[in-house]
Amino acid sequence: ARAAVLAASTGVGTTADGHAVPLLANIGGPGDVDAALEYGAEGVGLYRTEFLFLGRKEAPSAEEQEAAYLEVLKAFPGGQVVVRTLDAGADKPLAFLPPAGEEPNPALGERGSRLFRIHPELMAEQLTALARAASQVSARIQVMAPMVATAEEAARFATACREAGLPSAGVMVEIPSAALRASDLAAEVAFFSIGTNDLAQYAFAADRQLGALAALQDAWQPALLDLVAMAAAGAARYGRPCGVCGEAAGDPVLACVLVGLGVTSLSMAPPSLPAVRAALARHTQQQCLLAAQAARAAVSPDRARAAARSHLPGLV
Ligand code: PEP
Ligand code: MG
Repeated sequence: ARAAVLAASTGVGTTADGHAVPLLANIGGPGDVDAALEYGAEGVGLYRTEFLFLGRKEAPSAEEQEAAYLEVLKAFPGGQVVVRTLDAGADKPLAFLPPAGEEPNPALGERGSRLFRIHPELMAEQLTALARAASQVSARIQVMAPMVATAEEAARFATACREAGLPSAGVMVEIPSAALRASDLAAEVAFFSIGTNDLAQYAFAADRQLGALAALQDAWQPALLDLVAMAAAGAARYGRPCGVCGEAAGDPVLACVLVGLGVTSLSMAPPSLPAVRAALARHTQQQCLLAAQAARAAVSPDRARAAARSHLPGLV
């Protein structure tokens, strides 16, 4: 079994009938690049840049940012690298930038790209550093904003990226409103990446940090699958790629279901890549589609999983 996993740990992600599904890594910085390469990531689907900003007395300089971004880009020549702009606030407070006012509910506060409304200079500097790094390499850089709720916010971000010299701008779909109006957002940006962790938190009104509410954070919840399908359909209407970069992408059974829901790439913690690659390789796109339909027709996470598995015989 170990040999099979290792054999499956290189090469591109495809279903048994040859439908390509790029398998990408979630990373927190240059220090994670080696693991991503070791597990055969085809690129980076989520670079959480906030780790460069957390726990510091001042924001990292433009030069320091450029160096970090460049190091990651250089590791994937010709490959895809999706960089997420600063996603701070809530559970990831910035020491050098306390919230402007009292926030009784930080998860519903000035977090993620909402911060840029109050501190536009932060975003301008980050986009400039990204554009400078991108100009030095052949990697395909894509930049995305976290915590986008409306098409207007998506449009504003795309404009800022264009002005900085970054032509490929996307958004994370991790707020239910973004999934509900996905085609409006898809009209404004080049791609989506669904963050199932926050999407579940906000769809089920269940704090993702509260273990006691874990059942409502279960990515097999049929309501969450519906939101994923909506986001993918909205993206498809404009021919935009729609990945998943939340934890759900690293579950081999769910990964097949996500592909069946119309998701076009999967990004995950590097150690999850081999099992997901192997699961996809054993099933056709049609089997993934049937598994997705069966899961959405179920009324609970357990039944959704069982129903999906019945269409995915290659999983033990
Ligand atoms: C998510 O919300 O699913 C996500 C990928 O982003 P993060 O976990 O960093 O909030
Ligand atoms: Mg998130």
